[in-house]
Amino acid sequence: MSARGLCATCRTSIRQSGRGRPARYCGTPCRRAAEYRIKRLNRRIERLEGTRDALQLEREQLKAGPSLLSMVAGHTLPELDTRLAWLDERLGHYEAELIEALAD
Ligand SMILES: [Zn+2]
Repeated sequence: MSARGLCATCRTSIRQSGRGRPARYCGTPCRRAAEYRIKRLNRRIERLEGTRDALQLEREQLKAGPSLLSMVAGHTLPELDTRLAWLDERLGHYEAELIEALAD
């Protein structure tokens, strides 16, 4: 939540018109910057989720026994677990950033 009367992007004070809902941005460039940040975070999260889904599938198949996918990808279970843990951490980070951006 942004402080009352401060632009959610650049934190300069905003002159409120007193009518309608209070402005959240000082102008169009700051509104566009906020929209771009949210789009960028969404794209990053989607990419990471796609990678995580692929690695989880590979992990399940590897646990079930040798498969064409696990032979082609060539990852071991510990490698997959390390990568999945890293992906979960990054996803948590970007999701928290997105929640913050949406709350502004
Ligand atoms: Zn601004």
